[in-house]
Amino acid sequence: MSLWRLKTSPRHFLSKRERERGMAEIRKAERRTTGEIRVHVERRCPGEPLQRARKVFDELGMARTAHRNGVLIYIALADRRFAIVGDEGVHGKVGDDYWNGIRDAMAERFRKGEFCEGICEAVRGIGDTLSSVFPGQPGDRDELPNEIDVGD
Ligand code: CA
Repeated sequence: MSLWRLKTSPRHFLSKRERERGMAEIRKAERRTTGEIRVHVERRCPGEPLQRARKVFDELGMARTAHRNGVLIYIALADRRFAIVGDEGVHGKVGDDYWNGIRDAMAERFRKGEFCEGICEAVRGIGDTLSSVFPGQPGDRDELPNEIDVGD
């Protein structure tokens, strides 16, 4: 059985420790920016990944940030579909090619079974970008949970 098949269950593809590592990476990235990063993992992607990612973005309430600068990393494990969406504050400052580059690098890691590293690397990359377009500010509040959300 391929690693992929074993790893298509959203609840099991990361160990507890790896999940904590991913969340620590989000916290670290957010220290340098007012932007917010979140990760959502599910098994199947109904429809087109970017559209689905936008829907999840809304469902998670990610538009509720002061600067509209939330970014969601969306992963559908079994379908191997990925997308990264930024809110309207980020949109326009960062082009689609940029997001696609991060997405493709993550997909490449996933192909090698490096799930945790793929996510951490994507978070670091997005954090770098957010820190240049939305630098950290004193007293900035953590607006969204630094979670790796797991769906069905
Ligand atoms: Ca946060």
